[in-house]
Amino acid sequence: MIPSEFEYHKATSIQDAIAKLAENDEAKIIAGGHSLLPMMKLRFAEPPCLIDINGIEELRGISVEGDMLVIGAMNTENEVLNSPLVQEKCSLLTEAIKLVADPQVRNRGTIGGDVAHGDPGNDHPAIMLALDAELVLEGPDGKRTTPANGFFLGTYWTGMEEGELLTQIRVPVREQGVGYGYAKLKRKTGDYAVAGSPVYVKMNGDTVSDIRIGLTNVGPCAFRAEAAENLLRGNVITDDLLKEAGALIIDACDPAEDLRGSPEYKSHMAAEMAKRAIRQAIEDARN
Ligand SMILES: Cc1cc2nc3c(=O)[nH]c(=O)nc-3n(C[C@H](O)[C@H](O)[C@H](O)COP(=O)(O)OP(=O)(O)OC[C@H]3O[C@@H](n4cnc5c(N)ncnc54)[C@H](O)[C@@H]3O)c2cc1C
Repeated sequence: MIPSEFEYHKATSIQDAIAKLAENDEAKIIAGGHSLLPMMKLRFAEPPCLIDINGIEELRGISVEGDMLVIGAMNTENEVLNSPLVQEKCSLLTEAIKLVADPQVRNRGTIGGDVAHGDPGNDHPAIMLALDAELVLEGPDGKRTTPANGFFLGTYWTGMEEGELLTQIRVPVREQGVGYGYAKLKRKTGDYAVAGSPVYVKMNGDTVSDIRIGLTNVGPCAFRAEAAENLLRGNVITDDLLKEAGALIIDACDPAEDLRGSPEYKSHMAAEMAKRAIRQAIEDARN
């Protein structure tokens, strides 16, 4: 399939990209192109103008600022996966990225593109929710930082304003007592999730003092299983309590029927993925 005709501009800086976006309100940013180009080839998207942000050095790099790990939006999945700093400060990203797509896609696809796209099947939105990440956006009105919680509004719909660029992702570095888990069911290597769940726990002895459970591909956008979190927070986790949490997760899911399965199957699998990830996270916190 061949996309419809478009203009192409290569931005040289963040400000240049913002200026080019302002010149054409139907223009689209292109990062790794691994979501946008397939949509253009299928003519689901027909932007008249693409602004390529691959040459912008300011959008790369991974560093620690205070108690936050700062990841430039244009880091590829593989760059994040292979970063010793990410492994040390937030190993949830390392472990989860191993399950994103396949090595070829991870070589081009960017973490910023994965978040900005707002696809309910993408792994990073729910990971951002579980990590309580902050997103840095820059646009014609300047720079702002917004919590990931509340950013994902619907299918391909985020809190990004017109003309804005996602420039950085900021995640809290791992603290004492914190553990992570990630479980994803997919039909084959390289596929999107039937259902996936990233989990953050903070333990105080055997008690879960805090927990965040993200859910992927079981609703119009990524979301947190808040009822299950509220049930588990402040408790020692038993099999019975996990079973109850699983029932609350099933109730919270609203997946679409497609080739990956029926809504009922996907909701049950989401609960199963979350329970596995919770157990992993508690084990991770103990180590
Ligand atoms: C075969 C295949 C399997 C895949 N499997 C998975 C999977 O299992 N899990 C998963 O999470 N993803 C999966 N993906 C998607 C892949 O990870 C994409 O790379 C990702 O969704 C988008 O990142 P990108 O850099 O390619 O963005 P692009 O495709 O370039 O852009 C995607 C959208 O985000 C916008 N955008 C990109 N960057 C920015 C920015 N910095 N600021 C503002 N807007 C921006 C673009 O305008 C566009 O609308 C798969 C893709 C393929 C082709």
